[in-house]
Amino acid sequence: MNKFFLVILFFSLLNFQLSAQNLLPINIAHRGASGYLPEHTLAAKALAYGQGADYIEQDIVLTADDIPIIIHDIHLDTVTDVARKFPERKRKDGRFYALDFTLAEIKTLQVNERIDLKTGLPVFPKRFPLYKSEFRISTLAEELEMIQGLNKSTGKDIGIYPEIKEPEWHRKEGHDISKIVLFILNEFGYKTKEDKCYLQCFDAKELKRIRAELKSELALVQLLEEDTDLNEVAKYADGIGPSIKQIITEIKPDGKPVISDMVKLAHQKDLVVHPYTFRVDSLPFSLDSDKLLNVLFKKIKIDGIFSDFPDVTAKFLKKKFKK
Ligand code: CA
Repeated sequence: MNKFFLVILFFSLLNFQLSAQNLLPINIAHRGASGYLPEHTLAAKALAYGQGADYIEQDIVLTADDIPIIIHDIHLDTVTDVARKFPERKRKDGRFYALDFTLAEIKTLQVNERIDLKTGLPVFPKRFPLYKSEFRISTLAEELEMIQGLNKSTGKDIGIYPEIKEPEWHRKEGHDISKIVLFILNEFGYKTKEDKCYLQCFDAKELKRIRAELKSELALVQLLEEDTDLNEVAKYADGIGPSIKQIITEIKPDGKPVISDMVKLAHQKDLVVHPYTFRVDSLPFSLDSDKLLNVLFKKIKIDGIFSDFPDVTAKFLKKKFKK
């Protein structure tokens, strides 16, 4: 083989490797298969795994004894029976904070479908019935053990998608959540961009800190609530997580979507785009779920989506991308 040929081969392999990660869009189970089972329970995660998710999401907050647990809010009261079990432990604002409870205490709580605190009614009425069956809050380590265990028993390689929740608030309360989470991810082998892990956060300052000060080499995703300078984001992150409505801003009366230039700009900066959240029982527009996914994946070319219904997303991706 001559040298020239070897150089060509090297670059084509390199190029293949670089593009392989983003070749097919990914199906991210949002809080597990939360459309079917109470969010963030191990049951919801196992179902998501079985339904064909490529990545499974973990929202992370700390307990009083600095154990990262998997729950969406810093509060316990919208998804557990904490108010009944520990009525005297609420703060002045009437809320119950995970950070005020030890892991042992949190493990005594029963997890339920998310309720609206004002009405006591479920946020998604068609989902799993309130106060039925038996679910507990799990730690980050327990969930990673289960996903890695399933990877071993099935031979698949499903990724994780942890989110650090409210790092600034945690720090004000005297807890460095990012440091603790990075330590555990590292223990479980998630260290670089080659490992199947996207670490996400809404707090741009914290993501920069994770990259620069805490020296993480993981793939980082900047979650977005409002329009942000993507040139700035591209300096420290590998992707963005906007809401669907930041990408499709409206649907015209004739059914045509109005599309922002966010995905185009992100792709110019080599940022992957994983919008939130696809819910068949709460669609953002009058489009049906198949049409919405079609516009997002085929027309706008997003790289993945956070979905409460990973089975629906998996079926769509299988049909359209032969996944
Ligand atoms: Ca999240």
